[in-house]
Amino acid sequence: MNKIGVLTSGGDAPGMNSAVTAVAKSAAMYGIPLVGIKRGYNGLLRKSTSLFDDMEEMRLDTVLDIADMPGTYLRTARCMEFMDPHWREVAANTLRAMGIGGLVVIGGDGSFHGAEHLCKLGIPCIGIPGTIDNDLAYTEMTLGYDTAVNVCVNAIRAIRATSRSHDRPHVVEVMGRHCGDIALTAAVSTGSEIVIVPEVRWSVEDVAMRLNRQLAKGNSRATIVVAEGSWESMEPFDMYTFLNSHGKKCFEGEPISAERFASIMKRMCGMVEARSTVVGYTQRGETPTARDSAFAFEAGHLAVRLLRDGISNQVIGMRNGKVFYMGIEMALQAKREFNRDLYELVNNM
Ligand code: ADP
Repeated sequence: MNKIGVLTSGGDAPGMNSAVTAVAKSAAMYGIPLVGIKRGYNGLLRKSTSLFDDMEEMRLDTVLDIADMPGTYLRTARCMEFMDPHWREVAANTLRAMGIGGLVVIGGDGSFHGAEHLCKLGIPCIGIPGTIDNDLAYTEMTLGYDTAVNVCVNAIRAIRATSRSHDRPHVVEVMGRHCGDIALTAAVSTGSEIVIVPEVRWSVEDVAMRLNRQLAKGNSRATIVVAEGSWESMEPFDMYTFLNSHGKKCFEGEPISAERFASIMKRMCGMVEARSTVVGYTQRGETPTARDSAFAFEAGHLAVRLLRDGISNQVIGMRNGKVFYMGIEMALQAKREFNRDLYELVNNM
């Protein structure tokens, strides 16, 4: 292996920089030059006027500075061209022309699909799971998930304190388009009373009934944690008619949101007030936790070792608390299992 490339792709996740640093440290240890590729697969398409816009030699002394920086130093972006075989060929040719004999791809399942295609074009690739959603079934953890959960836990604890002061329930929306793991873990960790996830169909009326049960028990500060993708798994509800007939202006066709949902709960449960907070991008931009950084370190080192030993087409993950690797294709076929028991436990309290 005479040169390795590394890129971050898809949504950014805390710990991506730690992984890049680990790759750089490991490559330096084995005396393998490292090239950082900018903005995911875009940096391989030779569309920029200057090569430096697309790639950078990653020297250990500069890379060490980014280890604990949030965000991704290499930048990340979606790259729609990569769906097209022609552009994947261009990318493979770029790597060959640069003398890059192996690529470390840090990203989610979409990025891994891209890596799988590059492998088929003869470019050895290793994937490191970098996505806050924890939506990769083959691994127990993905980079950024632990950090995102901790951001949500801190936010929800603060929200529950003010909710208690004011005796008002709160709707907290967290990230997770198809995967409710952040919402569920954050709800469990904070003792939140209700959790709503994309994996389980739910209805506004049922949540209002459960909130009413909390109010009847004297709990006037219940927290409803909602994963952002859960608006899609909601049973049909005529928000327009309901809110307008309860004295709250709402426009026809307006999408439901955490704020609107809090308004509905307030009216359905006859409360004086209910508030909402969207935790949002702080989940992505936070400094990685020790758990994420440590995983990134081991994963980055393993990725380089595998490439050096001529092993490719693999993704790295965590199983039974240990870092491991397996074939990309098999990993992408793994079916995710939502922890329904834990979900029931939170919601039945
Ligand atoms: P994530 O990696 O976090 O799942 P995306 O799904 O947006 O994020 O994928 C990131 C990038 O990976 C895409 O912009 C594209 O460049 C590449 N990619 C995604 N799916 C495929 C695919 N089926 N084939 C080739 N490349 C893909």
